[in-house]
Amino acid sequence: MSTPKVAKLRVVHNRTHVDQHAAGRAVTDLLRALGKDPDNPHLADTPRRVATAFTEMLTPREFDLTTFPNDERYDELVLARDIPLHSLCEHHLLPFHGVAHVAYLPAERILGLSKLARVVELFARDLQVQERLTQQVADWLQHHLEPKGVGVIIEAEHMCMSLRGVQANGARTLTSAVHGALREDPRSRQEFFSLARGR
Ligand SMILES: [Zn+2]
Repeated sequence: MSTPKVAKLRVVHNRTHVDQHAAGRAVTDLLRALGKDPDNPHLADTPRRVATAFTEMLTPREFDLTTFPNDERYDELVLARDIPLHSLCEHHLLPFHGVAHVAYLPAERILGLSKLARVVELFARDLQVQERLTQQVADWLQHHLEPKGVGVIIEAEHMCMSLRGVQANGARTLTSAVHGALREDPRSRQEFFSLARGR
């Protein structure tokens, strides 16, 4: 039996479509509820702009997940560090942003490196909490790549913390999810966490 050389899987998000017109009308209502005059010429285009911005923030781009047979039997950690991350907090509809560090320990197949960033985006462009986002990226890679292990760390600053409430400006929240050898083997786990955190 031979493994296919290059395998491609078209990844399309399966979330419901955004109704931009309804979103625009809702923003008009929100402006009015906030005591603002939506008929003010300065605000004339705001509902449309807000609807477009939210649509973009909630719609991941399609991509092909390209995998290759691990012919060289590479068995060390593959790590993409500091992948830029933007998402929307589902509690406040405010952004949180930061970086993701994503690693896997290859088994039969390896992955085009740029794809790790696309997997992060696939789940980041949604209403999220950071813990679930971290877990979803790890689960997805474990399922689609079937590596010996997966590790994901996300460091993010939440606008709902920085701009309001406790106003913990610059505070970063750290979350992690690990599967397989990165969970069970202390040496692999240690290697992942020290490489990912850059120390
Ligand atoms: Zn929040």
